[in-house]
Amino acid sequence: MGTLKPSTIRIGRRYRASRLEDNYDAVVIGSGIGGLTTAALLSDLGWKVCVLEQHYTAGGYTHSYDRNGYEWDVGVHYIGDVGAKTRTRMMFDYLSGGKLKWAPMDDEYDRFYVGDKTFCAKAGKQQFRDNLISQFPAEEQAIDRYMDLLAQVGKGLTAYSMNKLLKPWQRVVAWPYLKLKIPALLFRNTYEVLSELTSDQDLIAVICGQWGDMGLPPKRSAFMVHAMIARHYLYGGFYPVGGSWKIAETIIPKIQKTGGEVFTYALVKQIVLQGQQVTGVEMADGHHIKCNCVISSAGIDNTFCRLLPEEAVNEAGYQPLLKRVQPSMAHLGVYIGLQETAEQLGLPKTNFWIYPGNDSDAAVDGFMKDPEAPFPVVYISFPSAKDPDYERRHPGTATIEIVAPAPLEWFEKWRGTTWGKRGDDYEAFKAELGERLMQYLYEKLPQLEGKVDYYEVSTPLSTEYFCAYQYGELYGLDHDPVRLQQNWLGPRTRFKGLWLTGQDVLTCGVTGAMMAGLLTTSAIIGMRKSGTLLKRIFN
Ligand SMILES: Cc1cc2nc3c(=O)[nH]c(=O)nc-3n(C[C@H](O)[C@H](O)[C@H](O)COP(=O)(O)OP(=O)(O)OC[C@H]3O[C@@H](n4cnc5c(N)ncnc54)[C@H](O)[C@@H]3O)c2cc1C
Repeated sequence: MGTLKPSTIRIGRRYRASRLEDNYDAVVIGSGIGGLTTAALLSDLGWKVCVLEQHYTAGGYTHSYDRNGYEWDVGVHYIGDVGAKTRTRMMFDYLSGGKLKWAPMDDEYDRFYVGDKTFCAKAGKQQFRDNLISQFPAEEQAIDRYMDLLAQVGKGLTAYSMNKLLKPWQRVVAWPYLKLKIPALLFRNTYEVLSELTSDQDLIAVICGQWGDMGLPPKRSAFMVHAMIARHYLYGGFYPVGGSWKIAETIIPKIQKTGGEVFTYALVKQIVLQGQQVTGVEMADGHHIKCNCVISSAGIDNTFCRLLPEEAVNEAGYQPLLKRVQPSMAHLGVYIGLQETAEQLGLPKTNFWIYPGNDSDAAVDGFMKDPEAPFPVVYISFPSAKDPDYERRHPGTATIEIVAPAPLEWFEKWRGTTWGKRGDDYEAFKAELGERLMQYLYEKLPQLEGKVDYYEVSTPLSTEYFCAYQYGELYGLDHDPVRLQQNWLGPRTRFKGLWLTGQDVLTCGVTGAMMAGLLTTSAIIGMRKSGTLLKRIFN
């Protein structure tokens, strides 16, 4: 393989110990949307915040990269709930000072290929329902009951988030009330809930057609997360104009305004403690940054298994808790460039979800046992078609992205090797996987055969290298019913001055991690000041 040219998209400032100041009010580990949100909100209250990101560019899973004249996103394909003045939209507007713009996808934002049948989801609550009924006319009653369940979950979510915000003693006091507000439905198994409504397996497969958005098929996931995602996209999908890197780019100025900074190439080696009190962080270059408020957005695994001293984690009683959560599935990515525009190629603003049949759980099991079995899900997205600004930046070209699961074990033998230099056998294996996934694309869009100019494949090892997820996991922790009932997964920790944020605190997704940023900020500043902040954001 020839040497890969590094990406030119760089957001944030390169870390040097000499560029640090000595009086930060807070240090944030990781510059994903969770970390950036917390940093920006604290900065807005006058805090001076230092964000430390190990990657060469800021944004975590919202970063983009370019190569050979093309540009791709690694962890953002569509975001819901931003087409009207919703809470999600108000948060993005507040954080970006109104600079982040959104482009709607097609009315048919998701298309589901289930075996040899094709279904879709359409934007708008009523249209979503009517469209489902038009595809399953005999299931009107079940579909209406399903829509009611989505509404029920919606009502329970505020109480669920409030519960995360409370101190343990407050939770004890508030629990009799919260218990009434958080329906047990939230923690039930998705498939079980749906099979009480209908026995039509195709309908269940279509209702669960977005399971790839949280990485667990219906028999393993919690209904709460299924419903959150379904509700999130009910009014359609939207794409950040200019590419997903615009998210970090538009938020960072808020952090810099009060003297803070977002440093890249800034690997944190350790969270430093004195007893149970946080006193700062130690960088990979040995430099100490003193600060008694440290916020980790690096995920539970990184925070508790890599950044905190093992002894302290044990003493604080975290070991048995950590056993209750697992990493989400690892994934492959294919990043494709074409020398014609999306319009010329007839690329839609619709995501494709390709399933071998209507039993995704069986398909996942089959695939884990036999790597030659069909991929249990293949997701195809058309970023340049969705981005009205793409043509200006990269005239005459188009891009496509494919995501599919892949067990980390397949790549075990190359662990510890360096990116770009993992060897010919690794490249050959990647080429084989890439070829397999490209066939899914050509089958659905045969006009693309012979039109692809360039493509490259990422593996769970790429995710580990660039995004610091040691298991190549897509979405942090798995969203099973047990994980969602872990009260310790919240902004607070048992270490004084250490806070958590990001996708492991609430749920995955850009919005889930952003809302975790708001929750963490509220926990840090306290209820009274939060009231003022909330008024400012949601005015
Ligand atoms: C392939 C894929 C597709 C997705 N598609 C969508 C989508 O279409 N819509 C959607 O809403 N969501 C999507 N998601 C999920 C979404 O991107 C994530 O849930 C969200 O961005 C996570 O944000 P975060 O802040 O929690 O973590 P991250 O964005 O992962 O940020 C954590 C950061 O911490 C840094 N870090 C870790 N350890 C250290 C250390 N020791 N020192 C310094 N820095 C460190 C990492 O480098 C990383 O940048 C997708 C994810 C993937 C992987």
